[in-house]
Amino acid sequence: MSTPLAELNRIVIAGNRNAGKSSLMNNLFQKEIAIASDTPGTTTDPVTRKIELGKLGMCAVTDTAGLDDVGDLGEQRVQKSRERMQSADLILFVSPSDAAPTDEERRLKNWLDEKKLPWLGVLSFADSQADPEKKEFFPENRRTALDNTKPGSSEALIKKMEALEKELEKEMTPVEGLVKEQDLVLLVTPIDLAAPAGRLILPQVETIRDLLDRDCAVLMVKERELYHFYHNLGIKPSLVITDSQAFHKVAADIPEDQMLTSFSLLFARKKGNPAQFIRSLEALKNFPEQGRVLVMESCAHHRQAEDLGTVKIPRLFRQMVSSRVEFSHSRKMPENPAEWDMIIHCGGCMTTQKVMTGRLDAFAEAEVPVLNYGLFLAWANGLLPRALEPFEDLAALYG
Ligand code: SF4
Repeated sequence: MSTPLAELNRIVIAGNRNAGKSSLMNNLFQKEIAIASDTPGTTTDPVTRKIELGKLGMCAVTDTAGLDDVGDLGEQRVQKSRERMQSADLILFVSPSDAAPTDEERRLKNWLDEKKLPWLGVLSFADSQADPEKKEFFPENRRTALDNTKPGSSEALIKKMEALEKELEKEMTPVEGLVKEQDLVLLVTPIDLAAPAGRLILPQVETIRDLLDRDCAVLMVKERELYHFYHNLGIKPSLVITDSQAFHKVAADIPEDQMLTSFSLLFARKKGNPAQFIRSLEALKNFPEQGRVLVMESCAHHRQAEDLGTVKIPRLFRQMVSSRVEFSHSRKMPENPAEWDMIIHCGGCMTTQKVMTGRLDAFAEAEVPVLNYGLFLAWANGLLPRALEPFEDLAALYG
């Protein structure tokens, strides 16, 4: 249940007010999660709960406000619902089976298809006489029926979702294509003031789990103990993966022919488009002297004195590129990305690939170069060619 949202199948329930969305949510969870009422617009803000759904595994299910909501607040709620849909793995488009499709529903279906978002029509109130137009509106392979009046009637829906599971886009795993069974992989992580107390951070945990799933052995050390352990191992690791901030020391402590990369690059690959980052490095060559850089992060976290996004990266950028560059920070997507000369984004470990690629596509459209923290740090330390060695296509792109 404590699986981070980014690692779950995200299911978003959408549709008009009073379509039966909250009843569906309650039916799936077999208890009252959302208020189901005859009064239109009862659900105002999205409500998300986690649940294990058969073969789909752990899912985060979100009930959203009606897409035909009205007024200023209504418009804001509709906007929120659409944002949730854009990051969903599957949208359950709920619509009463006994009524013809409304204009709003037609607009939603066009929008979902235009955005190529995966959806399944759920014909609610299936105990009533079905409207023939509605059946045509939702083709047979993209619809299922739900009798809201019967508890547990979501079984058919779960089966239909399981059947669609293979079509859902999956993020690649951290070490996909980089290791084989029985490899030894050495992980290096500094435990400094910035490290959370008593636990590892998400990219480290996910990498360890992925390596174990691939029948590899994992050895994890702090950067201070690396030299000692590495040179007394008696077996050469297939790969060393380090925190970007320790890259320099790690590279100095192990032989030059040791394959080395960073957690950041693994996650740049997992979450987004590392080729876009590498092409963006070109922009550093002729960067405007008083250019504007936006540093973006995907989640709120407690800032330490030597915070990476607000202190270390701006300092390094001013040393390496131009001392007069102006920095801003944001967690929200800027309205007009073209106002910036460069974006430097965090690794996005807490967000989904969909959200991250949505952001990267918007930057590409606005022709704004974008880097991520780890890639910038590797470049600034002169270690990018080495960090890219395990990824042939990216190494070739960097040249
Ligand atoms: S700021 Fe970015 S990289 Fe850091 S924890 Fe949040 S999502 Fe992960």
